[in-house]
Amino acid sequence: MSQHLDTLLIYLKGVGQARAELLKKELQLETFADLLQFFPYRYIDKTQFTEINKINEETGSVQLKGVLKQIEVIGQKRGKRLTAWLEDGTGRSGLVWFNSIVWLQRSLKENAQYLIYGKPDLFNNKFSIKHPEMELLAQAETQLSGKLVPVYSTTQKLNARYITSKTIAKLTLDIFEQIQERDIEENLPKKILEKYRLINRYAAVKNIHHPINENAANHARRRLKFEELFIDQIKILRTKQHRHTISKGFIFQNIENNFNEFYKNHLSFELTNAQKRVMKDIRKDVLSGKQMNRLLQGDVGSGKTIVALLAMLMAVDNNYQAALMAPTEILAQQHYENIKLSLEKIKISVALLTGNIKGKERKNILSALENNEIKILIGTHALIEETVKFNNLGIVVIDEQHRFGVEQRAKMWMKNELSPHILVMTATPIPRTLAMTYYGDLDVSIIDELPPGRKEIKTLHYKESHRLRVFGFMQEQIKAGRQIYIVYPLIEESEKVDLKNVMEGIQVMEKTFPKPQYQIGIVHGRMKSADKEFEMNRFLKNETQIMVATTVIEVGVNIPNATVMIVENAERFGLSQLHQLRGRVGRGSDQSFCILMTDDKLTSEARVRIKTMIETTDGFKISEVDMQLRGPGEIEGTRQSGVPQFRIADIIKDENILREARLSAEEILENDPQLNAEEHLQLKKFLNAENVKVKRWGKVS
Ligand code: ADP
Ligand code: MG
Repeated sequence: MSQHLDTLLIYLKGVGQARAELLKKELQLETFADLLQFFPYRYIDKTQFTEINKINEETGSVQLKGVLKQIEVIGQKRGKRLTAWLEDGTGRSGLVWFNSIVWLQRSLKENAQYLIYGKPDLFNNKFSIKHPEMELLAQAETQLSGKLVPVYSTTQKLNARYITSKTIAKLTLDIFEQIQERDIEENLPKKILEKYRLINRYAAVKNIHHPINENAANHARRRLKFEELFIDQIKILRTKQHRHTISKGFIFQNIENNFNEFYKNHLSFELTNAQKRVMKDIRKDVLSGKQMNRLLQGDVGSGKTIVALLAMLMAVDNNYQAALMAPTEILAQQHYENIKLSLEKIKISVALLTGNIKGKERKNILSALENNEIKILIGTHALIEETVKFNNLGIVVIDEQHRFGVEQRAKMWMKNELSPHILVMTATPIPRTLAMTYYGDLDVSIIDELPPGRKEIKTLHYKESHRLRVFGFMQEQIKAGRQIYIVYPLIEESEKVDLKNVMEGIQVMEKTFPKPQYQIGIVHGRMKSADKEFEMNRFLKNETQIMVATTVIEVGVNIPNATVMIVENAERFGLSQLHQLRGRVGRGSDQSFCILMTDDKLTSEARVRIKTMIETTDGFKISEVDMQLRGPGEIEGTRQSGVPQFRIADIIKDENILREARLSAEEILENDPQLNAEEHLQLKKFLNAENVKVKRWGKVS
């Protein structure tokens, strides 16, 4: 934006020192530009009201007009709340507030006409709106002309100092009186505006704040969403482009020794086509002379480990070291044992390093590593520590990458002067739209096929009242020689209560499945690692038939004889967690089952989750539903690192716009990678002026 928009808000009529400071503190708004980019999240259409008797359970947010009655404080202490009724002649709706009770009690006017906005919920068989937006009708009618009034999100502090949504609407209007069309410069190439029929930038910004009608608001929204996603895509793709052209990487030319030997003589199964395809992608990367930065997505049980091993063998054949990092002790241990077993006939030194390996043993590993005597190092985040020095680290594989934070990953990158190749693997499928924005600058390979001979896991839902049936089923399975997981939720805030549940659960199990006929093991997060390992090993060797666990069991563990996964309080788990848990079974050739135990009563969201689990085992479908339920920021695989926050675009609802934005960004950069063409100069100028706010982890690499 031009110089003019850098003007501080304090130079706006009616904004003094105090208000300017509040706006900065509460909403991070300092300049004209900041305020103009602070978009309203909806509009009040003063002509559209819902009649209260038309409200039903399907009704979303509504605008009501009526008289406020019977304001009163009820309840005690934490149950204290303010309630009132709104009557509009067709019926009445309850209103309820849990916060700011004193202030509201003072400012709300009984028997006055109000405009109200909010979402009615059924409570004790009556509709009631929690924390509605309210405004005196008389005030609403005198302020601001125009049919659609913008509504901005404000804070309690601002409201208390009389900076309301209205105030902000007035301020944006004032800015438009002071600036001119050329102050809001176009940043999108003309061709794109024409192709996608987008209105110009000035008009969009003006109409997003003060549209003359719904149609104008829609056009403004569409243009601004497109702009936001397009600029984001251009940045992502430029990062990727930069990496592909600049960053140097090791070349793994030779695969004649261990790789071929293992592949030809010791691999106990044939790779699936999907695995072969991924190997080709990796092969190409490590021959390119550029650093590999590849994300490998593959559902639980799709066979990512073998791909990792093969990639590491390529490094070893070229005299580089390889590291495999897993998120938990159990998983690292398991990888270590599997890989050692796989490489039994091949002479490669493999070592395990976790936080538990201490003293002399640790010292020996560290010095062997520095001397290039260890070729493959497997471990937990202990690998990241500075004392862990490689001789010549050529590749890093990170398993279940969503368990690691950005910084942890970045540290692995630094273990060598020339960054090692990076392969990150995740079993948490990421919805396509999210992958486009969040992982857009990585190269992605997908294993979309399970090894042959797997039977689809049967998923069943049982309510607490049918527990005995589940016990009967467990007995049958154990009789048939199978093993069973029972998982309890353990969620940090209520850890104590949850742990009690686990312990009680164990007691019930021990009564129902008594020794010596049955053996039960337990693992939970509060146990020492050595004890966990001990229990896991007993289960692995089939010395215990039932493994009671908390979600520590969730990732990676591979015990093919376990065929039943029982999830207790399944309603408390997120979809991706349930999917991960289910993935612990179905790993052998026997029919496997996932039993979701829930309370008899379920919220509607929990019902959707359970239903989704029963209907599909496709991780991608599950991740789409998960994202719809929880929003992109909460999807496993993104939480730690933060999904880019969009101002106006919504990558779920605006999938089509996102696709158009991606496509046009690709087209432009393909033809004009440096953005030097006349028609792209405005765009380039805009990008240069914008500081890159979101540090993407792809860039860290
Ligand atoms: P994940 O992708 O969840 O990490 P794993 O790598 O643990 O899956 O593989 C799951 C199981 O499938 C392992 O027992 C592995 O040996 C086996 N497996 C992997 N690839 C194949 C294949 N192509 N054919 C048969 N079994 C395979
Ligand atoms: Mg795995």
